[in-house]
Amino acid sequence: MIYLDNNATTGVDPLVREAMLSYLTECYGNPSSMHRFGQEARQAIEEARRRVADLLGCEPRELIFSSGGTESDNAAILGLLASRPDRKTIITSSVEHSAVRAPLHQLARTGYRIVEIPVDTAGHLEMPTLTAAMKEPDVALATIMWANNETGVIFDVAAVAAAAKASSVPLHVDAVQAVGKLPIDLRGVHAGIDLLSLSAHKLHGPKGVGALFIRRTTRWTPLLRGGPQERERRGGTENVAGIVGLGAAATLAQQALADGQSWPRVAALRDRLEAGVLATIPETYINGDRSARTPNTTNIGFAGLEAEAILLLLSEQDICASAGAACASGSLEPSPVLQAMRLPERVAHGAIRFSLSRRSTSQEIDETLAILPGIIERLRAVMPVAHA
Ligand code: PLP
Repeated sequence: MIYLDNNATTGVDPLVREAMLSYLTECYGNPSSMHRFGQEARQAIEEARRRVADLLGCEPRELIFSSGGTESDNAAILGLLASRPDRKTIITSSVEHSAVRAPLHQLARTGYRIVEIPVDTAGHLEMPTLTAAMKEPDVALATIMWANNETGVIFDVAAVAAAAKASSVPLHVDAVQAVGKLPIDLRGVHAGIDLLSLSAHKLHGPKGVGALFIRRTTRWTPLLRGGPQERERRGGTENVAGIVGLGAAATLAQQALADGQSWPRVAALRDRLEAGVLATIPETYINGDRSARTPNTTNIGFAGLEAEAILLLLSEQDICASAGAACASGSLEPSPVLQAMRLPERVAHGAIRFSLSRRSTSQEIDETLAILPGIIERLRAVMPVAHA
């Protein structure tokens, strides 16, 4: 199998699995228990918290663990709103993940005003519009992603944070696709971010666990109430093995960022894939700014085709890729992200996301480049004028 769908999820690193194993077997104590057996689990959680804090450049106590990116996004937004009940305007972008779009959609139905900042055709935020929106009087919060899951395009979050700070607007950043791939320093250059979401399964950790950074000085109200866990900021017995896995994955991600080689290697593979596709397949387009992207992602439009057909034939050859967001597949609408970028329909319909990881190999790229042109040629022969 050639796995080029790492923005959907990544494989669990063997070292992560090893770190988790004893918390699924003999070390099953409840971290809230007084006895030593429980306290071993407590220590493992606190160790994981330190590891994630190290990766982000924040204090361990500024992190709560969650069930993943979706919960962190929901908790961030609803928790900020609950602390500012008099404010009814929310600023976001037109290309957010559904984990942000869906709660905002629901809030709009209950009377909130959602201001969507548009992006240009390269996928970048219209900053003057954003800065003006921040200055409006009734803004409760801004929620803007760091790196786009479909195109990899990176927003200038430091600039977004500066605009938010200038208007005293709390800023939440969905960093699910950025954490582990881009350097993050919440004490330094990224000190303007108030809340930040991440998910373990995007960085070779397990599924169903993530974290939310909540700056010490930010007013925020917990979403999940129950026991005293996470210092009463997220009730419920902790997913100890998952949290340990996230901690181990964070350390591995930090090492990969620091070695200065892992991600440049991935970017070079991604660039070779793009160059090969553009050179061998006519009417192909790279969607999104090629110069400001996560190193692992490319979104390629094969004009005149339907992405689902391409994916099916790729899958028959054991190549895994994706058409926009996983949740959007199955519908014939182009993804909302590509629509927001105002891509021509005939390019957006045939857009495929290839997303690599630190484990991707040169051979995988060679094999993909050997197979893909034939697939596109076959499909173009049978669907010559779709969306012409
Ligand atoms: N935000 C972004 C940008 C994502 O890419 C994803 C996952 O695809 C999520 C949020 C949701 O994360 P999770 O799958 O952990 O709920």
